[in-house]
Amino acid sequence: MRYCEKCGSEIPDGQKFCSNCGAPLVNANPFEEILQKPIIKKEGNIKESPKSRLTCIILLVVPLVWVMIFSTMSVSLDNALLSNISAFGALFLGVHQFYVGKIKMGILFTLTVGCFLIGAIVVLIKLTITKTFVDSEGLPIL
Ligand SMILES: [Zn+2]
Repeated sequence: MRYCEKCGSEIPDGQKFCSNCGAPLVNANPFEEILQKPIIKKEGNIKESPKSRLTCIILLVVPLVWVMIFSTMSVSLDNALLSNISAFGALFLGVHQFYVGKIKMGILFTLTVGCFLIGAIVVLIKLTITKTFVDSEGLPIL
């Protein structure tokens, strides 16, 4: 319960104006609004991540295909330049993780070449078939 700065009457929680004198409740507790945000989210019953699934798939598939094509070419042609191009593409294998807010996973993917490509393929399956890929807040990307 808060009190009006003008007339001192009680203002019920969640109300932005004093019901007695009509004065707006200005920053009674600036932290309250910040603290309430996650609660509002839960009450709003958001079950889906706001992130786009298509964007995730593109961000994952483009570097994945890039690495696969250039690494295959570099092996068959025994070409160091193609090998470097392949390695360059591998740097972007973690981009989809950064996009959904998973910074640590993104760094891990970048450092381990998409968890040796297996991790990247698992994420692709999660995105397209099982639809169990979640963002940093645990919300599924549908
Ligand atoms: Zn008042």
